[in-house]
Amino acid sequence: MTDPQTALLDALAPAPPSGQGPRLYVADTDLAEGASVALPAPQAHYLRSVMRRGPGDTVVLFNGRDGEWQAAIETLSKTGATVLCRACLRPQPEGEANGPWLLFAPLKRGPVDLLAEKATELGAARLQPVVTRFTTAARVNATRLRSLTIEAAEQCRRLSVPDMADPMPLARLGDGWPADRTLFVLAERGEAPPAAAAFAAHAGAPAALLVGPEGGFADSELDGLRHLPFVTFVRLGPRVLRAETAAIAGLTLWQALAGDWR
Ligand code: SAM
Repeated sequence: MTDPQTALLDALAPAPPSGQGPRLYVADTDLAEGASVALPAPQAHYLRSVMRRGPGDTVVLFNGRDGEWQAAIETLSKTGATVLCRACLRPQPEGEANGPWLLFAPLKRGPVDLLAEKATELGAARLQPVVTRFTTAARVNATRLRSLTIEAAEQCRRLSVPDMADPMPLARLGDGWPADRTLFVLAERGEAPPAAAAFAAHAGAPAALLVGPEGGFADSELDGLRHLPFVTFVRLGPRVLRAETAAIAGLTLWQALAGDWR
């Protein structure tokens, strides 16, 4: 007979989606039928104390390469867990790896956390901080952003986590840029054409969006960007959006008109 407190906690444990179980990202482990996967203490704690699961219960694993796997908990303790892969629920979708890249000037903690989480839900394949003249945030906490993107990927049922690139100066943008990937510069000023038409004209092609800092791009930066062969300037309507709003709106518009929402 479980005591009332345990019964209450069990009742409050989040219900798994469609009887599959909690989703966990296991980056460095190959997933295949019969594979035994070791989970570190934080993921064991999440399963044991947050999701109130135990040996025999089902979890769902993904690693960004091998698709989505149903697995059964074999051992579960404070220090770790082992789970056994049983069946592949979904193959790895090609489209996710070709999702849009988001280049962004580092923002304050709240807005940049929102940007990282929403960009993950919106299918961004890569997050690239770009340091510009008016960037206010001194540094990017890549570890925190990485864990936010993993949580968002687990929640939204993605089968990959965006690459989290190291910050780079805007001036280095052209170094080794992939020739087939258009970079759409989100320009809140000047005569940039509407993003919708530009995105629709590039439907299905590799793309990246660049959003500036709170203070916007310097004129000299915009001039430099205009001369890059892979750059197209676009506008997101007549109003000046916050950087995180522009990033979310730009990714939404891209996915709807040119990406995996079509
Ligand atoms: N310098 C702007 C101003 O005049 O106040 C503020 C920059 S805005 C807060 C931050 C970034 O969001 C811009 O650099 C741009 O990349 C993007 N952005 C904001 N509104 C936009 C719009 N209507 N169209 C395209 N990009 C926009």
